[in-house]
This record gives sequence, C-alpha cells and structure tokens, in this order.
Amino acid sequence: MKCRAFLCAFLCLALLAGTAAAEALPAVDVGYYFDTVVTVTLYGPDDTLMADIWAACERYERMLSKTVPGSDVDRINTAAGATVEVSAETWEILREAKEISAASGGAFSVTVAPLTALWNFTAGEERIPADEERLAALPLVDDSRIELLEGCRVRLPEGMSIDLGGIAKGYIADEVASLVRGRCTAALLNFGGNVYCVGYKPGGAVFNIGIRDPQADSSAVAKYAVSITDTSAVTSGNYERFFIRDGVRYHHILDPKTGLPAWTDLAGVTVICERSMVADAAATACMVLGSEDALAFLQAMGLEGLLITGEGESITTPNFVTHWNLRGI
Ligand code: ADP
Ligand code: MG
Repeated sequence: MKCRAFLCAFLCLALLAGTAAAEALPAVDVGYYFDTVVTVTLYGPDDTLMADIWAACERYERMLSKTVPGSDVDRINTAAGATVEVSAETWEILREAKEISAASGGAFSVTVAPLTALWNFTAGEERIPADEERLAALPLVDDSRIELLEGCRVRLPEGMSIDLGGIAKGYIADEVASLVRGRCTAALLNFGGNVYCVGYKPGGAVFNIGIRDPQADSSAVAKYAVSITDTSAVTSGNYERFFIRDGVRYHHILDPKTGLPAWTDLAGVTVICERSMVADAAATACMVLGSEDALAFLQAMGLEGLLITGEGESITTPNFVTHWNLRGI
C-alpha cells in the first residue's frame, strides 16, 4: 500500500515534470516553400496554430510564386499588356515594391524578372546570357511602369514581367507573425534569410540571432549576433545563390542598370525592421547599391542595417549596435 502510494506520487511527479518540460519545449516544424527551407519554432502554441501557418504558406505560394500556374504573379506575367485583377495582398505588395524601388533609385526592382529568367539561378541550369539579350532586357526593368488601378487591378506593359523573390518572403513573414500573435507565448519564424521573432522565450529571454560570415563556406558559421524581439532581421548576401564560371562568381542579386550580378563592395546586408517586407526589399536594394549609397538609402528610409563588405569590414547605421546589442562572435 505504502509502496503503491509512493509509486503513485512518483508517477504524478513524473507526469507533472513531463508536462512542465513539454510546456517549456517549443514545437518545431520545417517546411519547404518559396524555394527555401522554412523553420517555425513555437512556444506554447494553441492546437491548430502550426497547421494554420502551413496553410497560410501554401496559400501565399499559390498567390505569389511566378512558377505556379494561375498565381497572381503568373497571370500578370502572361497577360501581355492586358489588365489583370489580383488579390488585395498582391496589389499591396506591388504598391510598396514600387515605393521602395523609387526610394532606391531602381536598385530594387520587381520587374527584374526578364533578367532573372535569362540568368536562371536554378542549380545546374544557370547560364551567362549573351550581351545582346542582356542589354535587350534592360528597358523592360522599370517598376514605375507597373500600373496599379482601382479594384485591385494591375497592368504591365507587354514584354515586362515581375519576380517577387526579393520581397515576398518578407511579406509572408509579416503575415505569419500577425497570425501567431496571441496564439502562442513566443515564436521564431525563419523564412530563409528572413527571421521574425515574436514575444519572449520562457523565462523572459529575447532571441539571439546569428548573422553569417559571408566569407565562410557554411551558413553554420556566424560572424555576429543580435538580440531581438517583436521584429524581423533580414539578410541578403552574394553567397546564397551563385555559380562560378572561369573563376568569376555570378550571384543572384542583379543590378537593374547593367543586368549583371550586383558586384559591389558588399557581401552581405542585414536589415532589422518590424516590417519584414520592408527589411527584405531594403536588404536586396543595399546589395545592389554598395556600401556608400546603401548607408544613405537606409538612413533616408529610417532603417537600421549592418553592411558587411567583401573585405570583411562591417559598417552600421548609427543606432544598430546599441539597439540590437550587436556583437562579434
Ligand atoms: P533571397 O531571396 O535569396 O534571400 P533576396 O531577398 O536578396 O535574397 O532576393 C533575391 C531574389 O530577388 C532573386 O532570387 C530574384 O528573384 C530577385 N531579385 C534579384 N535581383 C533583384 C533586384 N535588383 N531587385 C529586386 N529583386 C531582385
Ligand atoms: Mg530581399
């Protein structure tokens, strides 16, 4: 009897400990969307939150991917100059894309699609376009020519096309961050280079995010760390997607002025902003602008950023270090 009571008490304690441990341990799940690995870490989520997040990713992929037939982007790209009705979300992304494009002097341009199609940075299928085809595509890259009409309608001049690769993950990170608020105690959302942290970890800790060393061969090697919460850190780099031909490194962020990879002094850029979409587009723009213009652009936009040059030098906007406790590791 005594023994049984002891066993019972032991089991209860074990169960309680188990429950506490389960509560402290986050739910982690991985998916593949938008051509990238998506990792979702949720602390204390409700029963359906994880499934709702993947359903949202699925929906946005069907809406925003240029390679999904019938997506808003696909319909815009195949309309050959006709007006297309799109979702309010797509319309809104294009409105902001146009603004950031203008603010960056065209360094960020979603109309870069004719160029990305020529280079085709799909592993094993990359190619270097001939000068004639590259130069012929340049006049087609101009976000100011995207017409946004009432009633969520969009018109793109014939021959032009759009690619939301430099901004969509940020938009989706923002939407998923809104979805998780109030439905878990904290969340770490990682959409490729777009990280969004919501709330505080159990015990009240903020999230520590590593920023990769652009020179290192592996993404596991962090050069810096920042501590953030309720905001997004987005990194763009020339090491994400590239190929090397005859000793030359060709990467996937293209300069709309030349149609060539943006060969500037920058190897990686991290922008921190509550709006991941803005940080995403801005980080891509900075890679194209190069350090001097990127710094001026970030300051004009009121954004905080860390620029890492190909030489390994780091440059920040004035408040970056203190705001986010930037440290070299
Ligand atoms: P990633 O998506 O790899 O994290 P970025 O956010 O910098 O990196 O986006 C790069 C993608 O954006 C490219 O793969 C391409 O689809 C698109 N892109 C390339 N150059 C530009 C540019 N100058 N402006 C806007 N989008 C671009
Ligand atoms: Mg981007």
